[in-house]
Amino acid sequence: MNLSGLQIFKYLPASTKAIHTNCKECGCPTCMAFATKLAQKQINYDRCKYMPAELKKLCIKNIKAPQKTIKIDNLKIGGENVLYRHEKTFVNRTAFAILLDCKSPDFNKQLERIKNFEIKRINENLKIDLVILKNSKNYKIKNLCDETIYIKEEDFLKLSLKKLKDNSTTAKKLVEIRQKAIISRDEKYSAPVYVQFKSGQNKYELCSKASYYICKYANMLVFEDFDESLFSTLMTLRQNIYTDPQKPLQVEAKIYEFNNPDENSIVFMTTNFALTFYAVANELENLKVPSYLIVTPAEGMSVLTAWSAEKFTAKMVAKTLKKFDFTNKVKTRKIIIPGLLAHMKTELEQTLPAFEFVIGTVEAYAISDFVKNLTSSQNH
Ligand code: SF4
Repeated sequence: MNLSGLQIFKYLPASTKAIHTNCKECGCPTCMAFATKLAQKQINYDRCKYMPAELKKLCIKNIKAPQKTIKIDNLKIGGENVLYRHEKTFVNRTAFAILLDCKSPDFNKQLERIKNFEIKRINENLKIDLVILKNSKNYKIKNLCDETIYIKEEDFLKLSLKKLKDNSTTAKKLVEIRQKAIISRDEKYSAPVYVQFKSGQNKYELCSKASYYICKYANMLVFEDFDESLFSTLMTLRQNIYTDPQKPLQVEAKIYEFNNPDENSIVFMTTNFALTFYAVANELENLKVPSYLIVTPAEGMSVLTAWSAEKFTAKMVAKTLKKFDFTNKVKTRKIIIPGLLAHMKTELEQTLPAFEFVIGTVEAYAISDFVKNLTSSQNH
């Protein structure tokens, strides 16, 4: 169980006004300050020499990782510390493994298909993590680099859907195991958990079950069938769940080009928040119009958040244009800003008088119509 600052404080000298109350020997101004830091794991328990044995015991128990980590080459499975992603972050993504029968006549073809499968999403190349070999005398798990990896099945807690009654029982069991590992710190439940799906399931049902188990709380999912569209969906979900909520997904701040623009092409601007970038970039890519997209550095914040945190200001835009040598590269002096930042038009034009700032769309899907209207008004 994770102790709160108040729970820790109750054990310290200041709570009973005993000798050594707020003695500062731990480096903190008060026992309360020490308790708060200890609860946030910012200080070691042994910095207080006057801590009772009972609290020391609880602290030692808390230091131990609640879930074990299994390492297979560079792949780490398990090692989770929290129940909810927003408490800190989830650590190691749910691994995807495919069970392949070595005796199957199309074994090699299937293995090649799995090895060649890759999707690119938000600057990451995503692939299947493991292939588990069935009917192989020599090894059980093989990674995709053709190396033989031995794992002990007993390192995992296995939930086989053949044995569990239904989806809801499995889901409940997964939650129960994770709660026992994280909240009760029960060693019996500290092994990573995997769920194995039997073959021949309806793809959509499988997708919905697997999606649920990625969120709560499978450390590995083992599939007997391989389907590219299923894994594209699951990998996308998994990437979203396993990003650090304290670090927004961001793309590189630079000028992006779409459909071979020249120096007179239209110019859009947004921040480096990955989700905004991909929404806008997809639209621009699909337009048959050459364009530029200036992406400003905003610590991965969306446009409105960046504006309210003063990460998207007229000065910042001026600095970005200078950094990318925009005026020498592109003749266009019209920049389309996100519709949500319409109120910045005057400020931008005052700071950058050589430019005209055009208010663009609020939503990315409307870019296509916006560009059509823009080009038709320019032609008249
Ligand atoms: Fe309190 Fe212990 Fe720190 Fe002294 S050393 S202030 S008793 S926590």
